[in-house]
Amino acid sequence: MKLRIEDIKDEGVEISLMWSRVSLSAFMAPNDPYEIDFSEPLDVHLIFKKKPNCVHVSGTVKGALIMTCHRCLDHFSWILDLPLETFLYDKSYVDKGVAEEVELEDKDLEEEFFDGEEIDVDLIIAEEIFLALPQVLLCSEDCKGLCSHCGANLNRESCTCKRAGNSPFSALLRRKHLLPLTR
Ligand SMILES: [Zn+2]
Ligand SMILES: [Zn+2]
Repeated sequence: MKLRIEDIKDEGVEISLMWSRVSLSAFMAPNDPYEIDFSEPLDVHLIFKKKPNCVHVSGTVKGALIMTCHRCLDHFSWILDLPLETFLYDKSYVDKGVAEEVELEDKDLEEEFFDGEEIDVDLIIAEEIFLALPQVLLCSEDCKGLCSHCGANLNRESCTCKRAGNSPFSALLRRKHLLPLTR
């Protein structure tokens, strides 16, 4: 959804919405490496407040995403509970160099720009989700992954390849540093 700046009154605007996968898909790369899916729409609550040169956005994004584990390729539920805070600067102020004079209350807070007339609310939410994604997503810290030989999911089953790897002979080779140490 879009929010027009002129619709933000002095007391600010509160927006609560259920955010679905359709809204996110517009911002996803064609070959999305995360294969993000939703079990249910996300619960988004945002407050927009006008400041002299910018719009202050704060709120939360909550819900669960269905993600693919990078190690075992299983789908799992990834709980999302994101606090959101950002300052949106009007591009025209930035072009005039006014933004440089703005003292930010917290330098670590994000700064974004908008065209001065309307705010792309979906873009803010999508960016917040992408920023929250870790580079490697695991279904659990100790996910055992897939057997590199037979492809068995080692979280659910053991395979004979693993046993062969533990034979006295391989232990000997390992002692001679010919095989990498197993976990
Ligand atoms: Zn896993
Ligand atoms: Zn195997």
